[in-house]
Amino acid sequence: MLPPDVAARGDELTRMDPGALLAWAAERFSGGIVCLSALGAEDCVLVDVIARGTLPIPIVTIDTAVLFRETYALWSRLERRYGIEIAGIRSDLIPDGGPTDPSIDRLWERDPDACCRERKIVPLRRELGGRQAWITGIRREQSEARRHAQPVEWDAAFGLVKVNPLVTWTAADVRAYLTAHDVPYNPLHDRGYPSIGCEPCTSPAAEGEDGRAGRWRGREKSECGLHVAPATLVGREP
Ligand code: SF4
Repeated sequence: MLPPDVAARGDELTRMDPGALLAWAAERFSGGIVCLSALGAEDCVLVDVIARGTLPIPIVTIDTAVLFRETYALWSRLERRYGIEIAGIRSDLIPDGGPTDPSIDRLWERDPDACCRERKIVPLRRELGGRQAWITGIRREQSEARRHAQPVEWDAAFGLVKVNPLVTWTAADVRAYLTAHDVPYNPLHDRGYPSIGCEPCTSPAAEGEDGRAGRWRGREKSECGLHVAPATLVGREP
């Protein structure tokens, strides 16, 4: 459940622009907050806002070991551009420099839910353990599952506050921000990939398709499990 002081400021928080909301979150959850960057276009906006405001918010990304090479290049580019570290978090089954554990090798072919769980959710749960809040770049128009996301909500699955500063932004808003501030972004976005995840599970989306249509194409799956938790919306009872 949301802390009472956060719930009490619900209306005010929902009206804040991303910079103000992130500054509030950095202070309210000082030392206990982290920004999860998936290195998508929205995440590049958040990195820029955090760096521009010199906000004391650590940034991490989940390294599944099967990201696009363009994504790895963007990761380095953002770090160089802003002089920051974006820490990679990994499954223990993917040792740095070592072979991937056979139990998850090409697991996306056999059981993508299990693959996402082992490569993404397990390391994220470890990263979020002991923290009070996390920040994400999800937007409502990205998919039906994200339609009701709020700027500040209780994440029941991970047991902490979730801050989504860009929930009301459109894809055009994101693109305008990236252009206006010359923010680095993944060149795959210009090649028909509105949403970019792991290489084996991401394809381009056609004109008019849902922004996440290229993720796990041909399967029922549309989320990796990070953002489907039932949430307590700010100012509401669970
Ligand atoms: S997106 Fe695909 S490769 Fe990446 S963790 Fe999920 S199932 Fe595995």
